[in-house]
Amino acid sequence: MSRTPRQELLAYCRKLQPSGLSRTTSGNLSVRVEGGMLITPSGMDYDRLRSADLVWLGLDGAPLKPRQRVPSSEWHFHAAVYAARSEAGAIVHAHSPFATTLALHGLEIPAVHYMVAAAGGDSIRCAPYATFGTPELARNALAALEGRKACLLAHHGLLAFGRDLRDAFKRALEVEELAEQYWRALQIGTPPVLDRREMTRVLEKFQTYGQQPSLTRAARRPRAR
Ligand code: 13P
Ligand code: ZN
Repeated sequence: MSRTPRQELLAYCRKLQPSGLSRTTSGNLSVRVEGGMLITPSGMDYDRLRSADLVWLGLDGAPLKPRQRVPSSEWHFHAAVYAARSEAGAIVHAHSPFATTLALHGLEIPAVHYMVAAAGGDSIRCAPYATFGTPELARNALAALEGRKACLLAHHGLLAFGRDLRDAFKRALEVEELAEQYWRALQIGTPPVLDRREMTRVLEKFQTYGQQPSLTRAARRPRAR
C-alpha cells in the first residue's frame, strides 16, 4: 500500500539526522500536493515531529487547513520551485557540513567528478546570499537552479529537488558527498575539471542510467535448474 504524503514526509524527516544532512532543526522538506505543498513546521525537532505538525500550504503561502503549525520560514523558495519547475515533486533543504563549507566560501562544485551531472548540468552552482526566509533568497535559488535540480546557497547550505521525496533526498545526499570529495581534493591542490564535451556525454548517458526493467511475473525468466 502506498504511503500518504504525510507519512512519506514524516519518514524522510526522520532520516535527516541519521543521514548526516542535519544535526539540529536546520533544513526543511516539502512534497507537492493538490493545491500546493505539505511542508515541515518551523524550528521543530525532526525526531519529535508528528504528522499533525506538518503544514498544508498553498503556493501563495496561504494555509490550506485551519489550526496548523507555523510553516518553515523557507516556504518562499519551496513555493517558487514548485511554481517554476513542473517536474519538482519534492524538495530537500539542509545545512549539511560539506556543502555548507563550500557555500561559506561562495564556491560552486565544478565537474571534478562526473557525478556532478546528477544535479542536471556540468556544475552545481552556488546562489548568491540573501537573508533566510526571504523572497530574494527564493529568486536567487531559482536562478541557480536554472537547468539544474540542485544548488548551494551562499553562507547557508544546499537545496535539491526531485520527482518525489526519495529522488530529492538521494540528490541532496549526492550533493553532500560531492561537496565532501571536492573539499578533500582541495586539500592537496586544485583538482582538474572534466571538459564540457565529456560532461555533455555523461549528461546524455544519465538520460537512461539506472533505469531497470520491471521484473513482473510475466517478464521474469524461468529459474535455472
Ligand atoms: P525552518 O525551521 O523555519 O524550516 O528554518 C530552518 C532553515 O534551514 C532556514 O533556512
Ligand atoms: Zn536553511
